[in-house]
Amino acid sequence: MIDVSQTINYKVFTLNRPNRVVIDLYQTEISSQLKTDREKGLIKKVRIAKNNRNRSRLVIETDDIVFYKVEKIAIGTNPNFRIIIDLKRSYDGSRRLTAASVNKANLIVAIDPGHGGKDPGARGSKVIEKDLVLKIAIRLKRLIDSEKGMTAFLTRSDDSFPCPGKAKNCSQRESLNERIRRAKEGNAHVLISIHADAFSDPNVRGATLYALPDSKKIPKGSNYKVMYHPKSKVKVKLNKGVSSRSFSRLRSSQVDAYDQSIDLGNFILQEMKRDVRVRKLSSREAPFAVLKSTQVASVLIETSYLSNKKDEAFLVNIKNQDKIAKAIVRGIKAYSSNIKRELSK
Ligand SMILES: [Zn+2]
Repeated sequence: MIDVSQTINYKVFTLNRPNRVVIDLYQTEISSQLKTDREKGLIKKVRIAKNNRNRSRLVIETDDIVFYKVEKIAIGTNPNFRIIIDLKRSYDGSRRLTAASVNKANLIVAIDPGHGGKDPGARGSKVIEKDLVLKIAIRLKRLIDSEKGMTAFLTRSDDSFPCPGKAKNCSQRESLNERIRRAKEGNAHVLISIHADAFSDPNVRGATLYALPDSKKIPKGSNYKVMYHPKSKVKVKLNKGVSSRSFSRLRSSQVDAYDQSIDLGNFILQEMKRDVRVRKLSSREAPFAVLKSTQVASVLIETSYLSNKKDEAFLVNIKNQDKIAKAIVRGIKAYSSNIKRELSK
């Protein structure tokens, strides 16, 4: 928070290496009472200096690329009596997934069967979405639990509509937030949401996978921006001073990673392609609520279209439900081995 005694002009921008938010305050003098000892959490260092006759510059160095927003509070005739710079972690989910994938100690997967209870989802001629996706989710959980170094849990394990607390009923939005909350509460490294679509055109068929880049996980209407990110093809690397020999207990703070939801999604899609008709060959971006958590990497799989006769016939067959679940597990494992390879380079 910066308090200023008179109306001023200011400018906020971000830089990298080191990551920093810079606030230029024009026509200002620095008060001797100014305190900059808030060097904790995301903040590594705060510097303030009058760097030319007209301008004071405040630099906040952060230990990571962050989301930031700037707000001002007006008092009397001063529109920017107090300038507030708010910082928020942005890539936690990606870093946690990366670390857990490398550790092979315990990768925790939250599986979210879409809809449930009062909300049936899409309707086919033989099956409704909420029942079908629960079956696939239970299958997937069993498969993951039988793998070494992986466990899974479900956001709903019966025909119920997940609601916060002991509430029996809630809105769609509350239910979606509750699913994310359950994933976080269970310390999930990844959230896999399972659906089966319907479309007005009965000829449309095939599976689609959705995931969001981390920079698009900013909540709607929150005014946060993502700090400038240097362009790079490397989405994952070890922090300085961390050796790949310590892989068995890599912590998320030791790795720099982003957009792992997209990468994981593409690995799952690659595997699904072998056994399932796939509509789009790479991950799609869509602003689904369950994909927006910055703390849990997440993908949403539309397994196929219940509005298409052939897709529905495929989906109701238990053997095919098994194929889908197995492809997802293979995708997660392929992602993990790839990350390990990338980080050992
Ligand atoms: Zn659905």
